[in-house]
Amino acid sequence: MTVQLTNMQTRDVEALLHPYTNAVTHRAQGAHVIERGEGVYIYDNTGKRFIEGMAGLWCCGLGFNNAELVEVAKAQLDKLPYYHLFAGRSFEPAIELAEKIKDLAPGMSRVFYQSSGSEANETQIKLAWYYNNALGRPDKKKIISRVKGYHGVSIVSASLTGLPYNHKSFDLPVDRIHHTATPHHFRGAHAGETELEFSKRLATELEQMIEAEGPDTIAAFIAEPVMGAGGVIVPPEGYFEAIMPVLNRYDILCIADEVICGFGRTGEWFGHQRLNMQPTSISMAKQLTSGYAPLSAVAINAEMADVIENHSGEIGIFGHGFTYGGHPMGCAVGSAALDIYMREDIPAKVRAIEPHFRNHLMTHKDHPLVGEARQIGLLGALELTPGGNAMFSQPGKVGAHLATRLVEHGVILRAAGDSLVFCPPMTITEGELDELFAPIGACLDATLHWARAEGHL
Ligand code: PMP
Repeated sequence: MTVQLTNMQTRDVEALLHPYTNAVTHRAQGAHVIERGEGVYIYDNTGKRFIEGMAGLWCCGLGFNNAELVEVAKAQLDKLPYYHLFAGRSFEPAIELAEKIKDLAPGMSRVFYQSSGSEANETQIKLAWYYNNALGRPDKKKIISRVKGYHGVSIVSASLTGLPYNHKSFDLPVDRIHHTATPHHFRGAHAGETELEFSKRLATELEQMIEAEGPDTIAAFIAEPVMGAGGVIVPPEGYFEAIMPVLNRYDILCIADEVICGFGRTGEWFGHQRLNMQPTSISMAKQLTSGYAPLSAVAINAEMADVIENHSGEIGIFGHGFTYGGHPMGCAVGSAALDIYMREDIPAKVRAIEPHFRNHLMTHKDHPLVGEARQIGLLGALELTPGGNAMFSQPGKVGAHLATRLVEHGVILRAAGDSLVFCPPMTITEGELDELFAPIGACLDATLHWARAEGHL
């Protein structure tokens, strides 16, 4: 259906190339232009209000108009709008935020800044390679990631990501990166296999991959505690408990990608704490500044820090860093965001509202279009299927249709393939959650009706 584009929409299609957007459909239908935000709501340029069930891109944990963060950003721009951390320079906001990250992430000893999640994971791989070079293990360089993991879109981080559309059109992954199975019991378990048995099998498969590749060639394993963009996949019981001993047995670094899970999202400060993962290093971004400024951080443990700090004379300085890594405004905003999370005990708030969120999701688990409802903290998903755990013949179409219906009802959610995913601001109230879920039943019914008519079922 072609619509008459507004002036703003015409300017948009004539000037922008959009990320993760079907360019043909976009040119025909035009952009949805967003103008302002307030609490858990955003308003478009026609004045229509939407409840934002994804906190933007999983980042605006404190909602869309936190005055304290805005004031801190302004004050930092007034004082020192830019400086860098290259060649030994420093500034207090960067130091202060690193201290706060260390306090919140037990076992972490040093912090390195970038601007995005992709860059954080890029840094992680460089650190792992530098570390093994420093230790005289030049062959220990391969990285194991997971199918459906999401770690970003730059060349190496896109290679770590385990989704076909991030690889197929770009001749990725690059070499030295391997993917092990997705810990999704609903889709991946054998008939009758319990969650614990499934977890143990995945750990055995990981071990077999390590043995086949050669343990002396594997540097690191990277995982999100809860997979986000792959569809909010909560690992089965005993998963990281089974994976960790395998990594330890072969001296493999464990990288926790906490870009979504960090800072209270799962009801703990970090997702690895809730899921019993013991990382040697952590990637953070998004809620680090509640999305108000582009900033990411990598924290490493004392052992890694020691190797890097004490070997740089032998193998050369750590020749890596970004112009905007640790931007003063980003660090000031991040520091203020962490203060708010601590002052308001956001992890406790998430745990308190979690049962209400879970109840809403579970209300829909028996809908004919829903194969599985899953949730942890304030992350959730409804997995759409044509029945049982089968896949639709045209993956993604039904999920996209449902997300579009919801927008018409004033609700912004995303379809990750055929998983409808939820990641509302962590400040959301029970009443606002009721509002977010209000049109879901009717939109599922309408999508079911459409899917039958279109032959998707
Ligand atoms: N890691 C995870 C877990 C993510 O969810 C994302 C972004 N969705 C990234 C890395 C990449 O972050 P960015 O888009 O800031 O590069």
